Amino acid sequence: MLHAAGPLLTVDVGERTATETEIEDLLENYVGGRALATALAHDRIPFDADPFGPENRAYLSTGPLQQSAMSFTGRMNMTGLSPLTDGLVSTNAGGYLSRNFVDAGISVLEVVGESDELLAVHVTDSGVEFEEVPELEGATVPETSDYMEAEHDLGPEHCIAIGPAGENLVRFASVMTFDSRAFGRGGLGAVLGAKNVKCVTFEGDAAPELEVEIPDPPESEIHREAATSDDRMRRQGTTGGTEFINDNFSLPTRYFRDYEFEDVEGIGGNAVEEKKYKKGACSACAYACKLPTRDEETGLETEGPEFETVYSFGSLQGVGDVVDVMKSNELCDRLGMDTISAGVAVAAYLDSEDEFGNADLAHEITEKIAYREGIGDLLAEGVDRCHDDLGVDNYTVKGMEFAAHDGRVLHGQGLSYAVANRGADHMYASMLSLEYSGELDPEGTLGKAETLVEQENYAAFRDSGVVCAFGSDYVTDERLETLFDADYDELLEVGARTVTLERHFNNQRGFDRADDDLPYEIPDLEEAVAEYYDARGWTADGTVPDSRAPESAPADD
Ligand code: SF4
Repeated sequence: MLHAAGPLLTVDVGERTATETEIEDLLENYVGGRALATALAHDRIPFDADPFGPENRAYLSTGPLQQSAMSFTGRMNMTGLSPLTDGLVSTNAGGYLSRNFVDAGISVLEVVGESDELLAVHVTDSGVEFEEVPELEGATVPETSDYMEAEHDLGPEHCIAIGPAGENLVRFASVMTFDSRAFGRGGLGAVLGAKNVKCVTFEGDAAPELEVEIPDPPESEIHREAATSDDRMRRQGTTGGTEFINDNFSLPTRYFRDYEFEDVEGIGGNAVEEKKYKKGACSACAYACKLPTRDEETGLETEGPEFETVYSFGSLQGVGDVVDVMKSNELCDRLGMDTISAGVAVAAYLDSEDEFGNADLAHEITEKIAYREGIGDLLAEGVDRCHDDLGVDNYTVKGMEFAAHDGRVLHGQGLSYAVANRGADHMYASMLSLEYSGELDPEGTLGKAETLVEQENYAAFRDSGVVCAFGSDYVTDERLETLFDADYDELLEVGARTVTLERHFNNQRGFDRADDDLPYEIPDLEEAVAEYYDARGWTADGTVPDSRAPESAPADD
């Protein structure tokens, strides 16, 4: 099977050492991206690690397709122990980093330890340098990029960076690349912040040679189809479905009090497209679905908002003006926070104050979260930890704030939120697509477990390839088989091993059946979760049996 190439690079920022380890066996079994990083994390992060402790490890990894010229491959994966969920999380981001990362000659970076000074780490094909950067303390993400450009001639396409939120250990701080693309979910920005790592740069000219050639076609066909598509998504990005989702009563509104938003047109796809002023893409991707937007009246510029931000800072807060949502989006990117978790936390606060629709207050609170000022200090802990103090319901699963796509309406998606190792995230399994399209009846949970398992396995493989989730109409199952020189079932098996590793790790930290739950009622959830465990071959308590315990990754040199 096609897989990424190149060694694991371990950077200990406490000891200021860099070590390369050959991981060929692991690459053969785990391909790259999320699967590879999960296998490493499972065996190298102690099960009792503190997410903010030096023993936690953050992984940045590519798949083999990041060495191709094919569309839908502009993304990379990050994995680590989450300060938000207390379990393993993986999250992926687009932008232009992946090719520069590959050129540094590695398949995966591992960051461990804790520096006593704020650091920039420079990874090149000829070694690793550690630079103390006290002048960047408190710097925003663009200020950090400007510094790297001025001092090292490295643009934001060479960097991952954290903002003030990461430094201040906001539990949903993101790691940013290209200034506007977020490794958003699960707080890995705070993991880097705890390690005192402000920024990591990548450059070189030493892409590892792939043992298996990426076939051509379908690579060129996929690229051509991406370039000539007239999908609405190419114009409006993920916001193109906002009105449709609202019409399906799946757009949570006013902190989950309602299912549809009366001002949806003010924040939906057409409103966003009106503000779009140029095309935006990720490396190698001709589909170019990104959304550079500008408000001529105020001069505000940002990239996005994407649909999930339109939900979290729009409908969920009762805010119906796209410029207000753009402002929230720009704040989160600049300060380095996941727009979903931050938006849900702000919505919870607006609910507690009876201030739905107050966009100015939302912006003020968003900034306070990043700097942990006043009420922001409480909200920076995430809704699971602060809802009692606010006096609002706890709309999280495993500590992760909900994405849109309301599980109270899309019951299969609700089941997915309940059992996902990552918590209430929409990218863990796309039951929502099947339920929106009618391929699966949105009503009911029973009999959906097998489909859910396949969807989870597919997503885990896709995040390992790494293939963009928005390319599934082009990078079809058959084309995946050709690209990876493997049967579809073999690809799903990589995904299955990944999900099992995540579950096994989380089990060792105490996660079990009690954590696979929802804060609201959907039909037959208990039986459906049992069906899911059965389909996975796990115990009735939601744990991985010893007989299926995963194999070991290589130890530290
Ligand atoms: S489809 Fe969009 S998000 Fe995906 S790689 Fe292409 S430009 Fe990036």
